[in-house]
Amino acid sequence: MTDIEQNVENLLKSIPAHNPQGEKVTLVAAVKMQPPESINRAVRAGITDIGDNHVQEFKEKYDLIEGAPTRHFIGHLQTNKVKYLIGKVDLYHSVDRYNLAEELSKRSAAAGVLSNILVQINIGNEESKGGFGLDEAEDACKTIAALPALNVLGLMAMLPFTDDEEKLRELATLMREKYDLLKGAYPQFKYLSMGMSGDWRLCVECGSNMVRIGTAIFGPRDYGA
Ligand SMILES: *Cc1c(COP(=O)(O)O)cnc(C)c1O
Repeated sequence: MTDIEQNVENLLKSIPAHNPQGEKVTLVAAVKMQPPESINRAVRAGITDIGDNHVQEFKEKYDLIEGAPTRHFIGHLQTNKVKYLIGKVDLYHSVDRYNLAEELSKRSAAAGVLSNILVQINIGNEESKGGFGLDEAEDACKTIAALPALNVLGLMAMLPFTDDEEKLRELATLMREKYDLLKGAYPQFKYLSMGMSGDWRLCVECGSNMVRIGTAIFGPRDYGA
């Protein structure tokens, strides 16, 4: 049985409160495939922010989560499912294409809400991952920030799976440099969401201020179930 409480305590202790830039580092618990009981245990242990990947799971569990944590959507989002999330998600991390941004904008405007979003960057240029290329980041932010009812608060990235730490540092640093460049144009920028169970230390050292952690809190996910 995974000791969620101990894991949360350890993480909250070991994740530095601030990154080298002096910004507060926010821990988002990645809750995909976790039952509400486990999520509630994590929240009681001190988790303030939770992030979902699947709309169906989000809907099913929405009313069962206690303690009113801040809600993030971190997974790939199908355009036709946006309608189920509007007004319920505090920050969308995974805005990885224009038609998703347009749908979020349209639905948010119709509902009279302002949706906070991050623009996802495919920093490793991986075919398996969504997101804009690093060299498209300026254009993407410009186009998306001009849409009504959206508040672009920063960038999100997933580093590639590799043991090459030097490469990972290089990519994470490129993300931070792009974030800083864009922050000059968008003073509301606040979040660089980068780092998971395996690479969060490196990411925070390179300037991430929001990490999304699942396995290190809840244990390995049971994909066989
Ligand atoms: C699952 C997931 C995470 C957390 O991954 P772990 O390796 O379990 O910490 C972070 N971000 C996204 C987008 C995810 O889908």
